[in-house]
Formats: sequence, C-alpha cells, structure tokens
Amino acid sequence: MNISDGFTLDVNPARIVFGAGSLARVGDEVAAVGGQRALVLATPFQRADAEALAARLGPRAAGVFAEAAMHTPVEVTARAMAEFTRLGADCVVALGGGSTIGLGKAIAYRNGCPQIVVATTYAGSEVTPILGQTENGLKTTVRGPRILPEVVIYDPDLTLSLPVGMSVTSGLNAIAHAVEGLYARDRNPVTSLMALEGIRALRDALPGIVRDPADRRARAGALYGSWLCGTVLGTVGMALHHKLCHTLGGSFDLPHAETHAILIPHTAAYNACPDLDGAAALFGGALGPGLWDFARDLGAPLALADLGLKETDLDRAADLAVQNPYWNPRPVERAAIRELLDRAFRGERPGQG
Ligand code: NAD
Repeated sequence: MNISDGFTLDVNPARIVFGAGSLARVGDEVAAVGGQRALVLATPFQRADAEALAARLGPRAAGVFAEAAMHTPVEVTARAMAEFTRLGADCVVALGGGSTIGLGKAIAYRNGCPQIVVATTYAGSEVTPILGQTENGLKTTVRGPRILPEVVIYDPDLTLSLPVGMSVTSGLNAIAHAVEGLYARDRNPVTSLMALEGIRALRDALPGIVRDPADRRARAGALYGSWLCGTVLGTVGMALHHKLCHTLGGSFDLPHAETHAILIPHTAAYNACPDLDGAAALFGGALGPGLWDFARDLGAPLALADLGLKETDLDRAADLAVQNPYWNPRPVERAAIRELLDRAFRGERPGQG
C-alpha cells in the first residue's frame, strides 16, 4: 500500500494473555472484569475440560453449559440464556473454538455481559467483533462492540489435544484471514504487518505440529500466528475467499475449516496482486501454487469433492458467489469463478493466477 494515501485504523480493545499455563489465570481475569459468577461454555466434546475449569474457578463459576454447536443456532443461545439467568451468572468464560466462542458472543450481544475466552483452535473468532448465527437454516452476521470478547487467554498447552488434521485446516483457515487482509481495501500498515507475521508464524509452525503434535514450541507459534491472523479478520474487510467459503458452508453445509483450507490456494491465485508479494515470498514466490504445495505436504484435504460437494452443485455455487456484488481486488466473473471452483472440486493445483 501507498502510505502517502493515508489510512485509518480502529484498534479493537481486547486484553490478550498469552503463554503456556495461562489457563491458571482465568479466575484472576474473571475478577478483573468484575465477574463474580461465570457461566463456563463448551461444546459437548469439551464438556469435561469445561467442568475441570469450573472446578478450578470454585465459587467464581456459576455452572457449565456444554451445548455449543457449529454456526451458533439461536435455539441453543436461548437455552444458554435461560441457564445464565437461572444460575445467576454475570459473565461467560468460553472454552473452545469458533463454535463455543460464537455462543459466548451471542449471549453478550443479548445481555451485554463480559466475556473471557480461552481459545483452543486457530479460527480467530475470539478477536473479532463479528457474530454469525443461524435461525431456520439461515445464517446472518452481526457486528458490534458488545460482541468483541474483553479478555482472550491463549494457552498453547490446551491446543496439544487439537488433532493434527484439525490443526492443519484450522491453521490454513487463519492464513486465509491474513491473505485477504493483505489486499483489503481498508488495510493499513499495521494490519499488513500483522498479516504477514501471522502467515510466517503459521508457515513455520504447522509442519512442526504435523511431525510432532506435542511440539510445544510449534504449538505456541501456531497459536501466536492465529491470534495475529484473527486480529486482521476483526479489523479489515474480507473479499472473494470468505464470500465463497460462506456460500459453500451456508448453502451446501460444507465444514468450515476444511473449506477454507481447500479454497485459499485457489482464491489467492485468483487475486494475485503486488499486495501479496510479501506472502508469496514465504511460499516460494507464487502464493496460490505455493500454498497448495504447503497444504498438500501437511496432508490437508485438497478437493471439495472429498467434503461431499457434488459436481452438479458447482453451477449453483458459482451463481451464488456472484449474486450480490462485493468488493474484490479482481472483478468477480462467473466464468472464472466456475473454473476456480472446478479446480478446487477436483483438488488440482492452481496456476500462477
Ligand atoms: P469448532 O469450534 O467448531 O470446534 C470443532 C470441534 O473441535 C469441537 O468439537 C470442539 O469442541 C473441538 N475442539 C476445539 N478445540 C479443541 C482442542 N484444543 N482439542 C480437541 N478438540 C478441540 O471449530 P472452529 O473451526 O474453531 O470454529 C468454527 C466456527 O467458528 C464456525 O461456525 C465459524 O463460522 C465460526 N467462526 C467465526 C468467526 C467470527 O469472527 N465470528 C471467525 C472464525 C470462525
């Protein structure tokens, strides 16, 4: 970007606590936001971890609600709100990935309570003022200051249990935020620094996690990178890549992180531009093909066909992706998008863009 053109930067006011063992600080952080009784949130899968955290919080825990689900269904939020009131809670502690964090945000959006997040994936939702929720199968997105969590705790030890496959796709999901941040219309020098450093950290860390999921240094690096990439997502606008993932997730029920992981080499190739040169240099000079090779070497899924998408869905997906015009560094043309989707469907390596 050209600095002489000027820029604006809104800094999201979150407190970040990073480091191995920082889970032990949740109680102090609850107290620091004025909380007396925290409702601890999790998915059914992480219920035991949430119960252990509630036990650790002692009287500062009001209880556990472990029904968080993908895409924040409003009926789950309604049940959580009822529990919040019944248990006399005054804040939430969300322990988990984007699904659990979404539930905490949905509660805070409705009642304004403070949120402490203990993030255990690389999706980045914990540092964005964005909430996506679903009602009657329709996903809508809202933004607002109440939605942004007040405190985020990043304890890399909690990510040791994140399976290698999820670590890889979640890490590529984070990289996708940063890639789109690099050419965002409202980017600025600070978000571009964060994006590039976030991509670098994940590029260095993910192979180490694949080699040894218990590698604590690699785990810390990946979580650090995901914080930076998530911060970029929460600060600047996204374009073609996020739009395509939203379409495929919403209309064809494809899984979130895997869809991001498969599409990012293709959307990066489609949007190849000088703003991506720094990131391209991290992957051998051409970002799209370089990211595809990186993902393949990590054992990531490469073909949308493997996620259950049908070849007959591709035309409708292309139609949906060009339906509502939005800004993108390169014009969004149906024929080119259809071709992009075709390559991603078959798991083919993208060209130079
Ligand atoms: P997730 O939260 O759905 O987690 C997937 C599964 O992994 C869950 O069962 C979870 O309990 C489990 N899990 C999480 N951390 C674990 C760990 N360390 N060890 C073992 N298991 C663990 O997955 P996600 O990819 O983090 O989140 C996806 C959701 O987040 C989507 O609904 C997406 O739309 C949303 N999201 C929102 C934003 C935003 O800014 N609003 C940003 C990114 C993602």
